[in-house]
Amino acid sequence: MFGMTYEDIVQRIIDEKGLTKQEIEIKVNDRLKKLSDLISKEGAAHIIANELGIKLIDQSKRDFKIKNLFSGVRGITLNARVIAKYDVREFNRNNTLGKVQNLLIGDDSETCRLVIWDTSQISIMDKVNPGDILRFNEFYVKESSFGKEVHLTNSSKIEINPSGVVVGETNSDFSKGELVKIKDLTESQNVMIQGTIVQVFDPRFYDACPECRKKVTFENGMFKCNEHGNIKEISVPILNLYFDDGTGVIRTVLFRENAKKILCLSDEELIEIRKNPDKFNEIKERILGEQYKFSGRVNKNEVYDRLELNVNSVSRFDAKETAQELISSL
Ligand SMILES: [Zn+2]
Repeated sequence: MFGMTYEDIVQRIIDEKGLTKQEIEIKVNDRLKKLSDLISKEGAAHIIANELGIKLIDQSKRDFKIKNLFSGVRGITLNARVIAKYDVREFNRNNTLGKVQNLLIGDDSETCRLVIWDTSQISIMDKVNPGDILRFNEFYVKESSFGKEVHLTNSSKIEINPSGVVVGETNSDFSKGELVKIKDLTESQNVMIQGTIVQVFDPRFYDACPECRKKVTFENGMFKCNEHGNIKEISVPILNLYFDDGTGVIRTVLFRENAKKILCLSDEELIEIRKNPDKFNEIKERILGEQYKFSGRVNKNEVYDRLELNVNSVSRFDAKETAQELISSL
């Protein structure tokens, strides 16, 4: 009836209000008595949760917010606005070509990453542009270093700009495509910044699964992914650098394709550098002073007590070009 079992509701009351199971049961039984057993146990638990100010998930409601998503959430339909669409990434698994696409979506509560693995769903995204509203179901939620991620499944149904659905604007500069200054960055923000690479460290590498890009282990002469079994490993770079926009400097980390965009190296050249780190010096000189636009998430590094940027999209930025654009728009 409410899309939640009695046990689910009791657990929510325990989690949110710190009551014991016994205390809740007493309240439920009282209520059942008062209403002469006219309602179900679930119904009584639902009323008590309401009285305690707990908002239970109501599947019929259309205003489920990104802020309220948590991993394990089920049976929800989400409406969100597309803020940015990133390049489709291809990978090879067991000689089959796979694809994945990330988007940044948001509503008036928060932004998060939307991850799409299904090729027919990815082709639907061809028609989608920033500003469009997406409505979809059958997804799951994951926590990652980029914050909350919403992953579609093969059975997710997607509607583009469904009629009558309104999604509020995310109250962040990023969603409006505006740049944020490094001096103004705060923790857990999704931002876009523009600046210059002022220091770069030798890239690190790890062996990863070509599909899920997670670290793999080496067993009996084979690389093994926990999820995908024996695979042909790929060498994945991680690049750490300092990024300066004139108002401040931030330690920045780039993974995989984003690191490769900065390094501008083929897979073979990357393997060469992994074997022979001295060769990186030359590349480092080229990279220093280059200008980029990064979007990503600001994370707190507790160990060093500093903010860091975890980049999820990279584009080249040319000061001259931008100045010209500015002039022509006047
Ligand atoms: Zn894998």
